[in-house]
Amino acid sequence: MTPKERMAIAPQAMPEQDPSVRARNMNEVALGYTAEMAMTEAKRCLQCPTKPCMKGCPVAINIPGFLAKASEGDFEGALKIIRETSLLPAVCGRVCPQEKQCQKFCTMGKALGDIDKAVAIGRIERFCADLARGQTAGDISASAVRATSTGKRVAVIGTGPASITCAADCARAGHDVTMFEALHKAGGVLVYGIPEFRLPKAIVQSEIDSLKALGVKIELNFVVGRTRKIKDFLEKDGFDAVFIGTGAGLPKFMNIEGENLVGVFGANEYLTRANLMKAYDENSNDTPCWRGKRVAVLGGGNVAMDASRMALRLGAEKVYLIYRRSEAEMPARKEEVHHAKEEGVEFLTLQNAKRILGNDNGSVTGLECLKYELGEPDASGRRSPVAIKGSEFVLAVDTVVVAVGNASNPLIPSTTEGLETDDRGHIIVNPETNMTSIQGVFAGGDIVLGAATVILAMGEGRRAAQGINRYLAG
Ligand code: FAD
Ligand code: SF4
Repeated sequence: MTPKERMAIAPQAMPEQDPSVRARNMNEVALGYTAEMAMTEAKRCLQCPTKPCMKGCPVAINIPGFLAKASEGDFEGALKIIRETSLLPAVCGRVCPQEKQCQKFCTMGKALGDIDKAVAIGRIERFCADLARGQTAGDISASAVRATSTGKRVAVIGTGPASITCAADCARAGHDVTMFEALHKAGGVLVYGIPEFRLPKAIVQSEIDSLKALGVKIELNFVVGRTRKIKDFLEKDGFDAVFIGTGAGLPKFMNIEGENLVGVFGANEYLTRANLMKAYDENSNDTPCWRGKRVAVLGGGNVAMDASRMALRLGAEKVYLIYRRSEAEMPARKEEVHHAKEEGVEFLTLQNAKRILGNDNGSVTGLECLKYELGEPDASGRRSPVAIKGSEFVLAVDTVVVAVGNASNPLIPSTTEGLETDDRGHIIVNPETNMTSIQGVFAGGDIVLGAATVILAMGEGRRAAQGINRYLAG
């Protein structure tokens, strides 16, 4: 095909559940491409010799290579190429912010003057992974060949994407790996944070099952720093190396009046109750969750989008999303913003909470907000919001969900002597090996980067595993 013919192919839209139906169920919103759609979309790739899309991929997947295979209907061949560098394509095809990564640099999008018309790389990746999923247990099991045992033992703390990747790569290298997880279910944010309607939990579970099939042991309900300290693993329990992948699960709050009222949640708690504890499923679960009727969600990132869309699914009649900058500055994925709006979340941009109002019983009755305008760019490069004096107004709400960011959990740094962190509490590592200031102790993912993305966490886990393998080889 000539480039002109490729450019004439219409971008393939993703089939989705109808917004009015999906806003009240937990099933996945995006339904996935058919084989024909995946092939047609892959044919739009111009096979650029300079491969600009690859520069935007944190794990440098050979994108034109896999798209060429997919365009011929060789989805198995396409997946083989993806798996050379990515361990979790079914997850990443769903949740990666492609519009800020590979698709941002795509020549097709640029030539058509619209980033939304870039080749839908993530959707094709997802299709290839889902197709194979019907035939194998999961992405990890399909690419798992275990080397002969080295006799070395590795402790992996946490079970999020950084830890899953590190554990898989260490197990494949022949080490005896045990994971330690504070919660009662493995998967990190993939199970407790990102909702079922964006990432079905069966996908994450199949990867955890694949890890177990590789010989990885998983200890749940095990809080490292309390149940056992990092140095105990090395000095008392016979482990030869430790990986810390404990993420950034410490919620930040606004520090405004009324934040201690009944009906105020941190987004992590709200999502954990709904996702991990399955509070949305009233009929078969005992775990309660406050079902607000008028909900205000504070923030503009993926977490805020997930919380506001979850509020609808928990039965809210009205959901406001309150963000102090404009929509252009929102850190959330464009697709999530679009989905939230379609489902009926009302966006109140350039507005922010000033205080939460309550009644004599200590329950939320309203939210006093202030209007804002944009001033000069701040340190993040985004124009900073400036409050407009006297612009206060009150929204009648019974629930407020605070989703203004997460910080790293201080438990492990505060209980591990000699573990260096920066001023934000992130563990400092050698950028080539991911080794920390303690010999034999490695770290990666959000605990090193701050709240980031699944693919970056996965890349960190992979680099740390290489560091561990080299370290254990002496
Ligand atoms: P995590 O996934 O946070 O896993 C850390 C694990 O360590 C957890 O299971 C935790 O319980 C465990 N742990 C913590 N402390 C201890 C301890 N002391 N002992 C034992 N275990 C411990 N990224 C995207 O790319 N796309 C998205 O769409 C997206 N949406 C998101 C939505 C939400 C609601 C949230 C919260 C995050 C989202 N992210 C998204 C970010 C992404 O999920 C994270 O960057 C990624 O999960 C980080 O991986 P990790 O392995 O470093 O840590
Ligand atoms: Fe294909 Fe876009 Fe990558 Fe070019 S930049 S090779 S068109 S995916």
